[in-house]
Amino acid sequence: MHPIINETKLFMFAQLDLDDELCRAVADMGYERPTSIQSLVIPQAMEGKDVLADAPTGTGKTAAFLLPVCQYLLDYPRKDDSSTRVLILVPTRELANQVFEQAVAINKYTHLTCGVITGGINYGTDHETLSKNCDIIVATPGRLFEHIEQEKFDCQDIESLILDEADRMLDMGFSSIVHQIAGEAKWRKQSMLFSATLEGRGVRQFAEELLKDPITVSADPSRKEKNKIIQWYHLADNLKHKDAILVHHLRNTVESCIVFVKTRDRLHNLKDYLFSQDFKVTFLQGEMPQDKRNSALASFKSGETKILIATDVAARGIDVQDISHVINYDMPRGSDTYVHRIGRTGRAGAKGTAISIVEAHDFDKVGKVERYTKEPFKARFIEGLRPNNKPPQVVKKKKVKVSGKKTKVKRKTKSKKKTTRPASPKSNEA
Ligand code: AMP
Repeated sequence: MHPIINETKLFMFAQLDLDDELCRAVADMGYERPTSIQSLVIPQAMEGKDVLADAPTGTGKTAAFLLPVCQYLLDYPRKDDSSTRVLILVPTRELANQVFEQAVAINKYTHLTCGVITGGINYGTDHETLSKNCDIIVATPGRLFEHIEQEKFDCQDIESLILDEADRMLDMGFSSIVHQIAGEAKWRKQSMLFSATLEGRGVRQFAEELLKDPITVSADPSRKEKNKIIQWYHLADNLKHKDAILVHHLRNTVESCIVFVKTRDRLHNLKDYLFSQDFKVTFLQGEMPQDKRNSALASFKSGETKILIATDVAARGIDVQDISHVINYDMPRGSDTYVHRIGRTGRAGAKGTAISIVEAHDFDKVGKVERYTKEPFKARFIEGLRPNNKPPQVVKKKKVKVSGKKTKVKRKTKSKKKTTRPASPKSNEA
């Protein structure tokens, strides 16, 4: 096993031995210099090594795997009769479309062709895509495997296999299908696995089974990439109060934002309320027909609609640039979901703001997220919209030694005096 590489060396794209066509394309995309993960992965991957990368979304991971494989395809042109040579598997349809779009943009000046295969699209369109023998196919595992079984897609010419957001693929139960696809692509020369985390047995085992002697890359994002999301919370008394705080932000501070809610009912109530307040709003919810999802996303991406309301499931994998704010109208259940949500703002060096509007019964989640991210939230309030309620008492677990050996966890309610959270938010207009 190679040592973990995490020393960040920021090259210029021109220093990475990429063809001019690729460098011109990334310049057109507005990329001035490689992100940490790109400067670490690209040189290693261009040497043909397998890569295991710890790369959360928003770090520029997509170009980190696309650029070296495109360079390889350019360096070693295909034989006339060969079919697809690079296969990129991703967990969700939206992510597939985003990766596909980046692949097309990166190949703006090359002859390389790209295709995308996902569920929710009619089979005729897929057959047309597959008949083109694109150099690069981006796919969700389920639909691609159907085509393999029906002998509409053949993996024999696959030279690079890339698994993006592998942790999510595992969470979504794709492990067995991905293994079967990897088994079909057995002549491949290179495999790369990107995951938001390398912790947990699942991803490690997945990597052991699918990669050969990989280099492990852990991009400690440069300071510029880190600390770029300002996080604060507002304490709210009830839903009406939440609405008022949200509207204040939408009118005064937000350029474009995703508002996260916990259920579909909440989404529809909020959407109707915002319509009634003359806001132009679009939304993403689970089990939405693909064409409606696409048009909602297109309207948000183009800037036609500045406010997108979404549930967590529906928002998986979406990548929209230049979101100024992520607003947690409802706090998520888990801290990891919180991190995922706010990662949609402040991408690749841009500044972003995450605002959580929190009722007393959800207040413990703020503390949990703070402990998880090791980043404190700032409390804010808006003049005229101060909460009547005070933050509730914090319940903390305290370790107690029992008989000198084992430790037992005992719940202790902190007295109000000792509560570390400020008794009432500081007076600073948001
Ligand atoms: P990703 O982590 O691949 O989802 O990328 C996150 C966002 O950063 C996407 O919108 C990319 O277009 C953008 N991006 C990727 N690489 C760079 C770069 N080197 N400079 C600026 N933006 C980038």
